[in-house]
Amino acid sequence: MTGISPEFDTTTYRMAMAQFDQAAARMDLDPNVRARLKKPSRSLIVHMPIRMDDGTVRVFEGYRVQHDNSLGPTKGGIRYHPEVNLGEVAALAMWMTWKCALVGLPYGGAKGGVRCDPKAMSRQELQRMTRRYTAEIYPIIGPDQDIPAPDVGTNAQTMAWMMDTYSMQRGYAVHGVVTGKPVGIGGSLGRDEATGRGVFVCVMEAMKRLGIEPKGSTAAVQGFGNVGGHAARILHENGVNVVAVSDSHGGIRNARGLPVPEVLAHKEKTGRVEGFPNAEPVSNEELLTLPCTVLVPAALSEAVTEKNAHGVKCRILAEGANGPTTLEADKILEDKGVLILPDILANSGGVTVSYFEWVQSHQMYFWKLPEIRERMADILSSAFERVYETHLRTKMDMRMAALTTGIQAIADAHRLRGLYP
Ligand code: NAD
Repeated sequence: MTGISPEFDTTTYRMAMAQFDQAAARMDLDPNVRARLKKPSRSLIVHMPIRMDDGTVRVFEGYRVQHDNSLGPTKGGIRYHPEVNLGEVAALAMWMTWKCALVGLPYGGAKGGVRCDPKAMSRQELQRMTRRYTAEIYPIIGPDQDIPAPDVGTNAQTMAWMMDTYSMQRGYAVHGVVTGKPVGIGGSLGRDEATGRGVFVCVMEAMKRLGIEPKGSTAAVQGFGNVGGHAARILHENGVNVVAVSDSHGGIRNARGLPVPEVLAHKEKTGRVEGFPNAEPVSNEELLTLPCTVLVPAALSEAVTEKNAHGVKCRILAEGANGPTTLEADKILEDKGVLILPDILANSGGVTVSYFEWVQSHQMYFWKLPEIRERMADILSSAFERVYETHLRTKMDMRMAALTTGIQAIADAHRLRGLYP
């Protein structure tokens, strides 16, 4: 008996659940709170008929899952991907709960998604689907209730359509209903790069603790999208040699270091990193096992598993993606002496600047970029410090140190608020 309801039973959900069980076993967690936190508090499935450009109608399945709102409104991205399912969205919602609590944001965790292939859809089809999806989940989202943001396959434009659809229902502009919006309609400076910059901040903190100089160290980045692209750029700007990057089509490598801004321009122009001059091709699988100081998996979940973890040769593994390392792989990497910067810490820069965007939307007063970068680095460095100290003190690995810290904050909130009715 896993205690997993059949509707959520997927590999990603099982992984989130196993992490929770391992963390809970090391804590003095109230059994009632433990039972409650094992299930999301609210899950919505919607079916949306969308008119395609050729005149046909296709029905898309979408989800919004809110895991826990004991610390504040729920918060989490919207994923457009052909393999999105309820279990994956529920797992990602749970991770958002622990992440916001760990970093100290006044939010609970949520996530949403639509099972579709955004790369195969036109802009107009995507707009119609986004607006219908927003209308379907309208009753459960709002600036004080649940605030979506971009994730895989969605971007600032998607958020603009969501904000507009929600605002049309209300009759006035509601900036705070989503984050990751374009700056021209209430978005925050620095939100687009925030997750990648947060990965960088955590890597610098780890290097400091391990006595590694950024100059002369190397990095390999899997997934050259929002998170991986910015992480690679900022690492490169700070003297780290980025020796390999990849996207869903394949990767490129150069042991002397890639000129990341030029690779970004090539990706912008051709839609892929492949074909970049003065670099050799590398497969996504090979990239994970290249010798490097820092490995950044920044694509999808379950990239590093028991099958390939033995081949990983980095010193620091910074999880840009959510759930890129399985629990079996964690053990293998720990035995090899790899320091893992877990997702709920390493990629929390995104939700932190989303929080700043939400605050700015409420205040209608907008901050300057250096202030945003400095405040985000400050919050992440403190979270890193808390996790690293717990790791040293308790001898738990970094993932368990981060999870137990986040879960404890939620358990405390449940105890203080009590049970309704
Ligand atoms: P994105 O869609 O901008 O980029 C994803 C990238 O991964 C793309 O370049 C894609 O080609 C690549 N990719 C897909 N499958 C791949 C594979 N098998 N091998 C290599 N590359 C592959 O998405 P994103 O927003 O950068 O999100 C990436 C990850 O980071 C996700 O796990 C997401 O949940 C997580 N994350 C994102 C944010 C954010 O602010 N965007 C915040 C926290 C966590």
